[in-house]
Amino acid sequence: MIPRLKPDLGWRELRAALSSPGDGDVERFELAFAREMGQRHAIAFPYGRTGLMLLLETLGIQGREVICPAYTCTVVAHAIVHSGNEPVFVDCAEGSFNMDLDAAEDAINAGTGALVATSLFGFPVDLDRLDEIRRRHPRVNVIQDCAHSFAARWRERPVHPEGVAALFGLNASKLMTSIFGGMVTTDDDDLAARLRARAAERLRPATLGKSTRRLLYFLSLYPAFSRLVYGAVNRLERLGLLASFVRYYDEGEIDMPADHLEAMTAVEARVGRAQLRRYREIVAARRSRARRYDESARDLPGLDLPPLVEGATYSHYVPVTEQRADLLRRARRHGVQLGEVVEYTVPSMRAYRDRAGSTGTFPVSERYSRQVVNLPIHAGMTPAALERTVRVLRRCLRPAGSDTE
Ligand SMILES: *Cc1c(COP(=O)(O)O)cnc(C)c1O
Repeated sequence: MIPRLKPDLGWRELRAALSSPGDGDVERFELAFAREMGQRHAIAFPYGRTGLMLLLETLGIQGREVICPAYTCTVVAHAIVHSGNEPVFVDCAEGSFNMDLDAAEDAINAGTGALVATSLFGFPVDLDRLDEIRRRHPRVNVIQDCAHSFAARWRERPVHPEGVAALFGLNASKLMTSIFGGMVTTDDDDLAARLRARAAERLRPATLGKSTRRLLYFLSLYPAFSRLVYGAVNRLERLGLLASFVRYYDEGEIDMPADHLEAMTAVEARVGRAQLRRYREIVAARRSRARRYDESARDLPGLDLPPLVEGATYSHYVPVTEQRADLLRRARRHGVQLGEVVEYTVPSMRAYRDRAGSTGTFPVSERYSRQVVNLPIHAGMTPAALERTVRVLRRCLRPAGSDTE
């Protein structure tokens, strides 16, 4: 079975996780992260969403509207609500996974506190258009959600420094991981000092229990993604037995994890630092796999490939097809696990659909939520695995009936 997801972890990360904890592991990770991103400050959080929530609090944004994409990870909206603000959703631009910035600008009013610009799946947000919005609305705080786009570039400009701060997610499904965890980066000394002070006030120190749980979870990732075990896990998943573990959201709830105010652990910071050393290599490898897919899968019927964009990070490789359900089912029979990713729009979820910011229609987001397929693009995708995946796609995309084993 070719898994749809596989964290890029090796012996270095394992050694980092098992080495004895030193004082200041988290601070060292923050310094290394800031340096790698070319920013003055990086502040670690237990989750990316915690970073967003405390950032909004620190900016003094309360009882305001925060503009964000309709098509994004639901935890972003949860963090906005938990910070005491109202998410206002904006559809994708036609032909782009990112929020329509014209519509986003139209949504700005006197009550708008912030705008979360997301480079979804690693496709860089249009900074030229965003510059105009920032010039015309200097009081709206632009926050870059870079959970999919560590150091993505629009034309030649890195996306993450173009706002008051940027947000990064670091769980095991991201480009690079610190087991769980998140970062906020900024070049603003004053904001950084205030965010640190707020984090110190609002976050409890990590307990030994949490550190142990994180370490055990991390160690379990190694066998879980080995070929043999993954097959078994996949069967469990098909039976629905894993649903309660792998689902990160509940349609009807706007909730945060129980430990979202418990600081990042030292073991997470050590793994994160080991990953950081390889992150350029990780992104470069993804770009080259994206080019390979583009060359070999371009002519497949019924499958629209994502664009090849110079500065994109390809956190996900996401063709669009009307045959998604059939394709996923058939490909799995041929040993390739394709995934769905962001298979919802946030304003249509039960918890959001009656809220003020969910009015309007989101036709492009709706279509992507039904049609986006997540092709495997992780480190396990050798050229041979990638060719096999394309061969399987070619077979499975044929009209029903001609799908012979
Ligand atoms: C993962 C993710 C985040 C942050 O997630 P956490 O689980 O809170 O670290 C934020 N935005 C997007 C688009 C994401 O995919």
